[in-house]
Amino acid sequence: MKIFDTMQRRKVDFKPLVPGKVSMYVCGPTVYNLIHIGNARPMIVFDAFRRYMEYKGYEVNYVSNFTDVDDKIIKAANEEGVDSSVISERYIKECKKDMADLNVKPATTHPKATEEIDGMIDMISTLIEKGHAYVAEDGTVYFSVESDKNYGKLSHKDMDEMMSGLRDLKVTGEDQKRNVNDFVLWKPKKEGEPSWPSPWCDGRPGWHIECSVMSKKYLGETIDIHAGGEDLIFPHHENEIAQSECCSGKIFSNYWMHNGFLNINGLKMSKSLGNFFTVRDITAQYDPMVLRLFILSAHYRQPLNFSREVMDQAKASYERILNCTDKLNELKNSAAGDVLTTDEEAAKAQIEGFVKAFEDAMDDDNNTANASTAVFEIVRIANATTNDKSTKAYVDYVYSTIKTLCDGVLGVNTERKSDNLDEEVEKLIAERTAARKAKNFARADEIRNQLTSMGIILEDTREGVKWKRA
Ligand code: AMP
Ligand code: ZN
Repeated sequence: MKIFDTMQRRKVDFKPLVPGKVSMYVCGPTVYNLIHIGNARPMIVFDAFRRYMEYKGYEVNYVSNFTDVDDKIIKAANEEGVDSSVISERYIKECKKDMADLNVKPATTHPKATEEIDGMIDMISTLIEKGHAYVAEDGTVYFSVESDKNYGKLSHKDMDEMMSGLRDLKVTGEDQKRNVNDFVLWKPKKEGEPSWPSPWCDGRPGWHIECSVMSKKYLGETIDIHAGGEDLIFPHHENEIAQSECCSGKIFSNYWMHNGFLNINGLKMSKSLGNFFTVRDITAQYDPMVLRLFILSAHYRQPLNFSREVMDQAKASYERILNCTDKLNELKNSAAGDVLTTDEEAAKAQIEGFVKAFEDAMDDDNNTANASTAVFEIVRIANATTNDKSTKAYVDYVYSTIKTLCDGVLGVNTERKSDNLDEEVEKLIAERTAARKAKNFARADEIRNQLTSMGIILEDTREGVKWKRA
């Protein structure tokens, strides 16, 4: 299996630290609001990758944090006049609901920053002892980037270059820092903010230290894979490396994976720009599986542009899969025979070819775009080669193949959800049948048109009216 490693800037063979096991850390959201579909991208693409590693037989220890202490959370809490834990707990709950809707598997551990303060104080103390951090007059603790000769190795930033852009620290009000690139490990409390006692001052941690500490606690000093959106490469991940490696003297993570941005009209979707749709906005209009399929239909490192047109295309593609599994479900109940016919053997060989293409795609740096294409090829063959004469053995094979790859690895569930729409459609069909019986063809046509506009296709068969979604 190959992974594009951000640090080496190339695809490399993946070799886990312990054979058969993978330790993986994915930076999670700051919880002060509902997550938007850009935040959902890393959740979905790395969930698919985790599922694929599990499919290959790896035992994956997957850790993803919630940042539950942060300026934005405090601001939201002050606006509502509540404790900041009320805001963070509310949005952790909402985020977990969105993740469940999007079929993102819960992490092995979802640590929260506020529950790991002791570990942060320990790590900061070690960094001070080792001369990698210093305490300013007001109790702020800074990491000293000059003390780390490897600083910049992930983002390939050159220290001298960074220094050449040196701002006047006095002018920027950062004159406590020795170097403009030094970053906060611990900061003194301000009125109305959550705080914890520490050897330096009552205060709260900087953002970067939490991931270093949680990764170490739940996965160990060196882990296999660290991941997140590409905006985290600098400074967040660079700073995590600096803290962790200066503390342990060991490599922090062997592989670094970063997803590209979800854009809207070519601009990064973000809360600060206001150009976002929450997962909740989108799942009110589309099945969450359509959003998941849309995100997986692109390569995770490429930018992905969101628009209604592409969502509608994803919806039509998802419908194609559902129509196929509907048909297979029906045939599974009626088919018989446990020996494949010659034609079925040939079709099975063709499908096996696409199973291989699926695995090759996923082995090639989590290429879910090509893997989804392989699933659509299997769906196409399934539609063309199954009918009421198919053997049960063949129908079962096709069905379980789609289930394993699409539901299991891509995490795109293929069971049609019965919803209120079903009832509404059945009612309209009954009304149309009654209208036809009464020779009121105008009314019957009107109902058919109404159903068409709802995306429902009617088929008049000898057994009565059948319907499916367009
Ligand atoms: P945040 O809550 O902003 O820290 O983001 C949580 C995760 O979502 C991080 O891994 C970010 O890199 C990622 N992320 C935020 N916005 C986008 C976007 N527009 N496209 C892709 N990933 C994003
Ligand atoms: Zn992080």
